Amino acid sequence: MSPRQNWWNCSVADVISHLGSNEEGLSQQEAQQRLHNYGFNRLPEAKQRSWLNRLLAQFNNALIYVLIVSASITALLQHWLDTTVILGVVIINAVIGLIQEGKAEKALNAIRALLSPQALVRRNSETHIIEAAELVPGDIVQLQPGDKIPADLRLLKVRELHIDEAILTGESQAVVKSDQPDTVAAPLAERFSMAYSGTLVTSGTGVGIVTSTGANTEIGRISGLIGEVKSISTPLLRQVARFAGWLSAITILLAAATFCFGWLGRNYSATDMFIAAVGLAVAAIPEGLPAILTITLAIGVQRMANRHAIIRQLPAVETLGSVTVICSDKTGTLTRNEMTVTDVVLREEAYPVSGVGYEPKGNIGQSGVQVNGGAYPDLDLMMSACLLCNDATLQQNNQHWQISGDPTEAALITLAYKYGLISDTEKAEKPRLDEIPFASEYRFMATLHHDHHGHYFAIVKGAPEQIIEMCNQQRLNGEDQPFEPDWWLNQANELASNGKRVLAIAYLNFTTKPSALALDDISQGLTMVGLVGMVDPPRPEAIRAVAMAQSAGIQVKMITGDHTATAAAIGRQMQIGLDTDPVTGSDLEQLSDQALQQLAHERDVFARTSPEHKLKLVQALQAQGHVVAMTGDGVNDAPALKRAEVGIAMGCKGTEAAKQASRVVLADDNFASIVDAVEEGRVVYDNLKKAIMFILPTSGGEALSILAAIALGVVLPITPVQILWINMVTAVTLAMTLGFEPAESDVMKRPPRKPDAPLLSKLLIWRTCFVSILMVVTSFGMYLWYNQTGHGLNESRTIAVNVLVFCEIFYLLNTRVMQRHALSWSSLTSNIYLWYAIGILFLLQMAFTYSSYFQYLFQTSGLTLISWLHIISSTLLFFIIIEIEKYLLRRFTLTIVP
Ligand code: ATP
Repeated sequence: MSPRQNWWNCSVADVISHLGSNEEGLSQQEAQQRLHNYGFNRLPEAKQRSWLNRLLAQFNNALIYVLIVSASITALLQHWLDTTVILGVVIINAVIGLIQEGKAEKALNAIRALLSPQALVRRNSETHIIEAAELVPGDIVQLQPGDKIPADLRLLKVRELHIDEAILTGESQAVVKSDQPDTVAAPLAERFSMAYSGTLVTSGTGVGIVTSTGANTEIGRISGLIGEVKSISTPLLRQVARFAGWLSAITILLAAATFCFGWLGRNYSATDMFIAAVGLAVAAIPEGLPAILTITLAIGVQRMANRHAIIRQLPAVETLGSVTVICSDKTGTLTRNEMTVTDVVLREEAYPVSGVGYEPKGNIGQSGVQVNGGAYPDLDLMMSACLLCNDATLQQNNQHWQISGDPTEAALITLAYKYGLISDTEKAEKPRLDEIPFASEYRFMATLHHDHHGHYFAIVKGAPEQIIEMCNQQRLNGEDQPFEPDWWLNQANELASNGKRVLAIAYLNFTTKPSALALDDISQGLTMVGLVGMVDPPRPEAIRAVAMAQSAGIQVKMITGDHTATAAAIGRQMQIGLDTDPVTGSDLEQLSDQALQQLAHERDVFARTSPEHKLKLVQALQAQGHVVAMTGDGVNDAPALKRAEVGIAMGCKGTEAAKQASRVVLADDNFASIVDAVEEGRVVYDNLKKAIMFILPTSGGEALSILAAIALGVVLPITPVQILWINMVTAVTLAMTLGFEPAESDVMKRPPRKPDAPLLSKLLIWRTCFVSILMVVTSFGMYLWYNQTGHGLNESRTIAVNVLVFCEIFYLLNTRVMQRHALSWSSLTSNIYLWYAIGILFLLQMAFTYSSYFQYLFQTSGLTLISWLHIISSTLLFFIIIEIEKYLLRRFTLTIVP
């Protein structure tokens, strides 16, 4: 087998034989052997940046430039200690940044791996879902709408197959594919018989044979596309970066002004003033902020993954926190998607069905009706149709009945088994010739069969309103009779109003052999056989999650393709849209833009909708100022998913197209996971805010100490190098812990955050000023008191430094709990990292105060136990004052974190 061929120019038979395969697929053994020969079907990994490159990137930051310039100038002035400590700050920050960024990237890569694509492949005459990475040349792959093509394929069979090849050719219009050979000179965009890896099936179905995998595919050869390295950034991080740039500029100006003022106005020596100005700059610059924000975000992403929400695009983490409305599918998201047929309705009789789940145990009819030699001809026909017009499978594995395929269809197999039919026998007696797969736009599925005796017929099953429109006869006692559409509609409504999903089944006999099944063939003249009603119970955790979302000020809307009455009944069980009637898709089409916006805002249940309605609803809700989270699974949901602020695709039943259009993928398809993700989104945002709220006032406090001393013209209460020390030791310990903070108890009780709320909220500005001043007053006050009561300068300064450090420790306790007081047992024990950080900081301060080496370097002096009591009590007072401030703010503004 040669690796590259003009496959598009060969006939189907040639390609199959050349690739050593056949239409029933390779054997597992052969596939294993080929996997060994060709390797995994993966694109070469993007080249990782080298360790050194990543380290250097840490220094590429306006804040760090200022520090490096400061270090160089102190070195020129031969103030080696200052140089060392400033460089210490720079290096420690770079190392932490490097480690945290590495961890964050690793976490994100691990999460991306959870999204590895799968393929539907035929091997050994059976259809399997396998990891796309395991595909080998010669494998037979089945394609469905929404699939991402898993490898380069030569198409063997197509049915209205349209593929979006924009990723390869730049052409946004989907291409109609064919199984006929193309000319040998056809360029890539005109090879209609090929499906290329990475492109998307927008509609139709097909079967193809793998011609090349991994790096040998067309996309594998375009190396530029793959080498993309995603940076870790979000709107908030960019906002912070911009803000940090401004802050640096202002700080430099302020430091320059301070230098001039101290030198010229207060007669300090130029060198002393220069060092003080450098200390001021270093203190004021929140150099640790970027690393802390990145790690906070990465922790949030990981927490969400643990709760089944996989983040595909980082900004979603923030946006999730401000979602005001969640639009959810019904089936499988709010309900379990475990269908059980409970009713079969024929024109002559209605049969209740007993049993639960997919196990074919239970009766049809009160006393149990079984297949028996023509006594129930309509029921025979109905049950046979359930098996024939069906793509699901049901298998018993270790006493367990497992399904593959659509649960709605699997429930029909269980039903037919309860009646005593055998799927293989039915399918052998009436083989399938063609099919029209189910699509939510037209809400039915049809199959074409023959019975080996020259009779050709189609079976159609789907939403009752749809099927009734297509019928003009009905079955009664084994015969075709005039049609009574109203009777059937009433029966369907009655089943649906009990929350049941209803399907109608009909058939059409052909007089001549049709070449294929087309939509037009079955659009009229069908004979109605009967209805089935099935239950799909709500997920109990979804009911709780709906209540939680509602208490968090988030509207929950159900948008379903199901019957209006079914949707209303499930809505009632879930407490969605209790006071209003469902709106139907066709209602939506009649409305003006304004009326649509109003309705989208006021109503909560939308039934018989198709994917375009979802897009309309998202747009209408956004026009009303909502931040929308929207779920979806099909290829046609992609526009709505893209348009919503947070598009959420289903990980299990969702198509690859839906996943690619989404920012979040749910690993378990469960509504409860969306609400969990919103909660985590709020926690991340809180923690980002807390980190900012902690760092700005502490930097401010440190900077203000120097400014105040110079302004007052006294001996500096804390030397610049001591400030640098405080900056260095607190940056690496305290603020880092905020990323690990768990949720506050009220996180899902407050309304959503306004998405356009400014970073520098009034509260943040107030808090920065208030705490900075309070810190300076406390440490200055203690310094002055000690200095004026006969203690030496070094001792007084050591007191002032320790006061500042303890203020920061206490302020961390204040900040980490915003909505309540800081001292509850549960919150004190909720973040173990906090205590590690405080412990390490305490040891560092002990070294700073008592080690003779540090005493020499920083001009500190040992303190007595009494001094420590003074430090603790003064900083405790600082803590209490901020707790009182928090209390007053809570009383008067209700919420602190905006
Ligand atoms: P949701 O959008 O909440 O997931 P849904 O899954 O109930 O809603 P669709 O899958 O669009 O919506 O189904 C709409 C209707 O189509 C169903 O009410 C049912 O009558 C019919 N239907 C669903 N699945 C099939 C199928 N496999 N074959 C034939 N008809 C089906």
